[in-house]
Amino acid sequence: MIDFTPTEEQEALKTMVREFVEREVKPKAAAYDAEPDPIKGIPWDIIEAGHKLGLKDLAVSEDLGGGGQDSLTLGMLVEELAVGDLGMSVIYAQTWKVIQMLQDSGTDEQREKYLIPLLKDPVGCCAIAITEPDAGSDYIVPSRHPKAGPKMRCVRDGDHVILDGTKAYTSNGAIAHLYIIFARSNTDVELTHGMSAFIVPRDLPGVEDCPGHRIGRVYDKIGERLAGNADQEFENCRVPMENMLWDWDTAWANAPMVLRQSNAYAGASTLGVGWAAFERALEYSQMRVQDMVPIINHANVSIKLADMYCSLRAAQMMVRRGCWQADHPDNFDPMIAKSVKPFCAETTMKVALEATKMFGGSGVMRDVGMEKLVRDATVFLHSDGCNDSLLRGAGELLPKVPFTR
Ligand SMILES: Cc1cc2nc3c(=O)[nH]c(=O)nc-3n(C[C@H](O)[C@H](O)[C@H](O)COP(=O)(O)OP(=O)(O)OC[C@H]3O[C@@H](n4cnc5c(N)ncnc54)[C@H](O)[C@@H]3O)c2cc1C
Repeated sequence: MIDFTPTEEQEALKTMVREFVEREVKPKAAAYDAEPDPIKGIPWDIIEAGHKLGLKDLAVSEDLGGGGQDSLTLGMLVEELAVGDLGMSVIYAQTWKVIQMLQDSGTDEQREKYLIPLLKDPVGCCAIAITEPDAGSDYIVPSRHPKAGPKMRCVRDGDHVILDGTKAYTSNGAIAHLYIIFARSNTDVELTHGMSAFIVPRDLPGVEDCPGHRIGRVYDKIGERLAGNADQEFENCRVPMENMLWDWDTAWANAPMVLRQSNAYAGASTLGVGWAAFERALEYSQMRVQDMVPIINHANVSIKLADMYCSLRAAQMMVRRGCWQADHPDNFDPMIAKSVKPFCAETTMKVALEATKMFGGSGVMRDVGMEKLVRDATVFLHSDGCNDSLLRGAGELLPKVPFTR
């Protein structure tokens, strides 16, 4: 029997993050969100404060000097961060994923060379780049057509690999000091058998950059605005072969285990927005009086609040299971891995809209803050794979995985 009730240690970490959110994130998030220039909207001071508190290091194993937290615990913290601001949760979710990837799959030399400097970096964050301007759902479903999917090539040149092409939309793409880049190593076979992945450092203290990599367009998004999304441009970029993760051509074949936390952390991020909307609506419904009583006393309002609560709790159970199974490969259910984010994103969108309606006319006023939550809620319908594409991929798996109720 698995019990996802937080342990004492998990509760203490949740409290630490909640206090950080109250102190550092909530008072500043709205101003960063309102910044028209997405580069000026990057919350460097909050990132620095979070790193100083030790948040980045929580994912690093204890033998390397970190907090040694598992995916279940980190998922709980992603959720807490997102209650304060969705972008902040994404900044840490991406960073933690890369740290976990390097720990699990990196060589001793890679860990020594990249994780140790990252630990010391006062603002070091990480990013994962797979999507390209012409290739998104192709790798999410994934497509079996050899011509479909990412086109960016990696070509061997002695003890280096040359990267050429563009990666699109990368979360933390504008701020990261360490990138994991997925490129096509064989275009004659389907992408699941022809992709390789490489560590590409940028401005990581004490570590040489890979020449030929630069940050391209930084996106002006409708929500999740604190996470700087940007294109990555590669032109004859030389990366040492020793920076390759896993074997040549096998990066995507391993995808379910390589990025096993990905959709669960994404679910946790969007779920945090849902909780924020619910909490605001619950508070308002007890304060706002109409027909001489707080509006929560009107059945339509209380039923809606109860419905929001049930939906969010169900989504939270999916997230906890999705995070837990990331560390328990023997119990890994790919259907949950693919459906956790769509379920959470749809739930949060519904909750954010209902919660905003509960505010009546004030719900659409910018200073009230519900409109930010609605904008944030839309983002994960699109990111970490479009919901329909993930569910199509899940549908294709159905006949192949043993079905249990
Ligand atoms: C805020 C944000 C952050 C992101 N962060 C990252 C990141 O860090 N790293 C990264 O690599 N990528 C990232 N992405 C990219 C993201 O994963 C892709 O946008 C997503 O996979 C969709 O790809 P696309 O935009 O090319 O849409 P398309 O694939 O063109 O999809 C368009 C529509 O067609 C549908 N569709 C397309 N193909 C199929 C199919 N075969 N079957 C069924 N339906 C289909 C989709 O469901 C969708 O509704 C991010 C995107 C956003 C918006």
